[in-house]
Amino acid sequence: MAKAKATRRTLDSYTVKPSNKIIKPGDCVLMRPSDPSKPSYVAKVERIESDGRGLNARVHVRWYYRPEESIGGRRQFHGSKEVFLSDHYDIQSADTIEGKCTVHSFKSYTKLDAVGNDDFFCRFEYNSSTGAFNPDRVAVYCKCEMPYNPDDLMVQCEGCSDWFHPACIEMNAEEAKRLDHFFCENCSSEGQKKLQNSHNTRQSDAKVETKRRRRLQANTEAKISASQAVVFLS
Ligand SMILES: [Zn+2]
Ligand SMILES: [Zn+2]
Repeated sequence: MAKAKATRRTLDSYTVKPSNKIIKPGDCVLMRPSDPSKPSYVAKVERIESDGRGLNARVHVRWYYRPEESIGGRRQFHGSKEVFLSDHYDIQSADTIEGKCTVHSFKSYTKLDAVGNDDFFCRFEYNSSTGAFNPDRVAVYCKCEMPYNPDDLMVQCEGCSDWFHPACIEMNAEEAKRLDHFFCENCSSEGQKKLQNSHNTRQSDAKVETKRRRRLQANTEAKISASQAVVFLS
């Protein structure tokens, strides 16, 4: 049967069976891969259309790439739930949609109390033909000079404000979580003095508590200042 293009129409939404989740343009979705051994594809829905009878729904999508699917592959600082917004657009049958998901900004992802199966985050756009990232550089932290992976716990030095992996400062995660104060090697002698001066004031206890929580939530301010060390991505 010949399909006339003019008979296709745009839909406001599409209902995924059997969950009855309603998908609308702008939503992020998980899509079934042709190879069942692979993880679901992540995509942003741009448009939903059907034939003239309202059947054979198709979705226009913009793919998110997982680090494994990028030219440079997965790197140590990529989070397990990290995806890159690509310039790769596609049209897919709507029945490959498995369900809805959420692609958070980097900042809001690091503030989640719990990361669900359907939570992802995106901090880079990705050019699928050249493998280039935007932004093309990322701040690095710690003695190991790595970009921040939000899956990893980091502690902040109260002296220089740099962030450190517990393993890189010879600590385990439990020890790091119990820390009230942390000064890195370079800052430690000055830090001890400051601590002794403020030791007996109750107010400083309150401050320490908020600082400590902030520190353990890890770095959410990913802005790159002129003095911040960076690594270039390609
Ligand atoms: Zn490190
Ligand atoms: Zn320091």
